Amino acid sequence: MQRLVVLGGGESGVGTAILGKQKGFEVFVSDKGEIKEEYKKVLEHFEIEWEENQHTEAEVLKADVVMKSPGIPDKVALVKQLVNNGIPVISEIEFASKYTDAIIIGITGSNGKTTTTMLANHLLKEGGLHVGMAGNIGDSYAKMVAENDFSHYVLEISSFQLDGVLGFKPKVAIITNITPDHLDRYEYQFENYIASKFRIAMNQDETDYLIYDADDEVIVDWLKEHPVKSKLVPFSLKIEQAYGAWLDKNIIRINIEHNTLKMSTDFLALEGQHNVKNAMAAGLASLLVNVRKETILQSIQNFQGAPHRLEKVLKINHVEYINDSKATNINATYYALEGIKKPIVWIVGGVDKGNDYSELMPMVREKVKAIICLGVDNSKLIEAFGNVVEPLVETFSMEEAIKVAYKISERGDTVLLSPACASFDLFENYEDRGNQFKAAIKKL
Ligand code: ADP
Repeated sequence: MQRLVVLGGGESGVGTAILGKQKGFEVFVSDKGEIKEEYKKVLEHFEIEWEENQHTEAEVLKADVVMKSPGIPDKVALVKQLVNNGIPVISEIEFASKYTDAIIIGITGSNGKTTTTMLANHLLKEGGLHVGMAGNIGDSYAKMVAENDFSHYVLEISSFQLDGVLGFKPKVAIITNITPDHLDRYEYQFENYIASKFRIAMNQDETDYLIYDADDEVIVDWLKEHPVKSKLVPFSLKIEQAYGAWLDKNIIRINIEHNTLKMSTDFLALEGQHNVKNAMAAGLASLLVNVRKETILQSIQNFQGAPHRLEKVLKINHVEYINDSKATNINATYYALEGIKKPIVWIVGGVDKGNDYSELMPMVREKVKAIICLGVDNSKLIEAFGNVVEPLVETFSMEEAIKVAYKISERGDTVLLSPACASFDLFENYEDRGNQFKAAIKKL
């Protein structure tokens, strides 16, 4: 019997354990922290062995294959030891994909993954396909493979998941864009991070598709140096594409195989230029798996975005409050600032992942009238914008930040939470940060 060791007893770990058990592996789940009660119950239900608060080396090193949860860095000693011993260390995406023949749309990129994944899922569903949505979003993919019989999957895939793929081969891959993010996990080498993203296309051949942003120089330059076998499907806001999608004034034009489609951006429910790109990517993917264009045109109009992504919360005294808590890097915040036409009171800060704030400088000078720093360490923000924006106020809780925002803002302004940073200094996660933002506003 093959031994599957699962490192990390969270959503993807427990899902993988269930699938592994079903496929006849001897499964052992090991978590260095505590495993949630609900997950323990599930593991016990399936008679899967587990441990918490430790990794018992002898138990782990006996593995034939190890599924490592994406949160565990490669540089951890135990992981290094596994690799040195020649034991394959893979991700959930890799493991689960072996057990399904479904057509897979895999979506990666620095920003726009969730939005594009949800939109593609919506289009496939409206197209009548039996589709499962998984990956970084919601439920475990492996668990879905164990318990369902979907004909299609739309998967949101992070670079950490891609680091652990060996044979993963999606029919359609999407790279939404690549900007520096998570560099702490990539030895502060942007190249390593780019290479990780492109692993999504590593096993594709001429019958598969790679959809990508042709306006993104990082992607285009990388493809020149590192050609892929996949059929390339570019989308662009600027340049006409004979094959792919492009924006012709305010008309999205898609040309693919024997299909053409055009639609006005006025019909998109989601606002902002970045969402035009997300719509192009999801539209292309849906056409490539044979969703009818009439369905795409109709369904793209009734798609409502995901919470915490440029989510309009309330208008108080003619001041609009927008929750963009999911903006955990510079690029996402750039698009938020770009999209808002009113003077901005900007709530920013948190755990800095190696941000270069100078990229935001022109936008900040033009639009931001006040900065409210919300983080344990705001020194980089103060250094970057201290002499540029007046007032710049430091706050240390959401409630305090909102009180200050309320005081500073005037009729016609927008109060924008778009932190450009991770959340875990003051919050549990970005959802918690966004929810606290909304709750504090409602209290005003
Ligand atoms: P991800 O899952 O990759 O983090 P989301 O769809 O959750 O992406 O969006 C994250 C943040 O990035 C949000 O603030 C959103 O407004 C912004 N965003 C969404 N799509 C794009 C895009 N194509 N380019 C840049 N920023 C984007």
